[in-house]
Amino acid sequence: MSSNVSCDSCAFYENHVANSAAVAAEAGLCRYNPPVSQPDANARGLWPVVTANDWCGHFASEHKTN
Ligand code: SF4
Repeated sequence: MSSNVSCDSCAFYENHVANSAAVAAEAGLCRYNPPVSQPDANARGLWPVVTANDWCGHFASEHKTN
Protein backbone atom coordinates (compact mmCIF):
# COMPACT_ATOMS: atom_id res chain seq x y z
CA MET A 1 0.00 0.00 0.00
CA SER A 2 1.21 3.50 -0.80
CA SER A 3 2.94 5.51 1.91
CA ASN A 4 0.42 8.29 1.13
CA VAL A 5 -2.36 6.21 2.64
CA SER A 6 -3.22 7.51 6.09
CA CYS A 7 -6.29 8.63 7.99
CA ASP A 8 -5.07 12.21 7.65
CA SER A 9 -5.68 12.07 3.89
CA CYS A 10 -8.82 9.93 3.98
CA ALA A 11 -12.29 11.22 3.11
CA PHE A 12 -13.69 9.72 6.32
CA TYR A 13 -11.26 11.33 8.78
CA GLU A 14 -12.38 14.26 10.94
CA ASN A 15 -9.30 15.68 12.55
CA HIS A 16 -10.70 18.46 14.71
CA VAL A 17 -13.16 16.51 16.83
CA ALA A 18 -12.68 13.78 19.39
CA ASN A 19 -14.97 11.85 21.70
CA SER A 20 -13.12 13.06 24.76
CA ALA A 21 -10.60 15.73 25.71
CA ALA A 22 -8.44 12.91 27.07
CA VAL A 23 -7.39 11.64 23.62
CA ALA A 24 -4.08 12.52 22.00
CA ALA A 25 -3.80 15.81 20.14
CA GLU A 26 -3.10 14.03 16.83
CA ALA A 27 -6.23 11.91 17.18
CA GLY A 28 -9.40 12.31 15.17
CA LEU A 29 -12.57 10.43 14.37
CA CYS A 30 -13.21 7.85 11.68
CA ARG A 31 -16.60 8.50 10.09
CA TYR A 32 -16.66 5.46 7.84
CA ASN A 33 -19.22 3.65 10.01
CA PRO A 34 -21.93 4.89 12.37
CA PRO A 35 -21.05 5.43 16.04
CA VAL A 36 -20.49 2.25 18.03
CA SER A 37 -20.31 0.99 21.62
CA GLN A 38 -23.10 3.07 23.08
CA PRO A 39 -22.47 2.57 26.81
CA ASP A 40 -26.12 2.81 27.86
CA ALA A 41 -29.50 3.95 26.58
CA ASN A 42 -28.99 7.58 27.67
CA ALA A 43 -25.45 7.89 26.35
CA ARG A 44 -24.47 8.71 22.81
CA GLY A 45 -22.55 6.28 20.65
CA LEU A 46 -18.85 6.87 20.09
CA TRP A 47 -17.02 7.34 16.79
CA PRO A 48 -13.86 5.25 16.49
CA VAL A 49 -10.79 7.31 17.46
CA VAL A 50 -7.79 7.02 15.13
CA THR A 51 -4.58 8.97 14.70
CA ALA A 52 -3.51 10.86 11.61
CA ASN A 53 -0.94 8.16 10.79
CA ASP A 54 -3.37 5.24 11.06
CA TRP A 55 -5.01 3.67 8.02
CA CYS A 56 -7.34 0.81 7.16
CA GLY A 57 -8.72 -1.04 4.16
CA HIS A 58 -11.59 1.44 3.78
CA PHE A 59 -9.25 4.32 2.95
CA ALA A 60 -10.76 6.58 0.28
CA SER A 61 -8.93 9.53 -1.22
CA GLU A 62 -11.35 10.34 -4.05
CA HIS A 63 -13.46 12.50 -1.75
CA LYS A 64 -10.47 13.97 0.03
CA THR A 65 -11.38 17.03 2.05
CA ASN A 66 -7.96 18.26 3.20
S1 SF4 B 1 -9.73 4.19 9.75
FE1 SF4 B 1 -9.85 3.83 7.52
S2 SF4 B 1 -11.80 4.74 6.84
FE2 SF4 B 1 -11.31 5.54 8.88
S3 SF4 B 1 -10.28 7.49 8.51
FE3 SF4 B 1 -8.69 5.90 8.72
S4 SF4 B 1 -8.27 5.14 6.63
FE4 SF4 B 1 -10.22 6.29 6.59
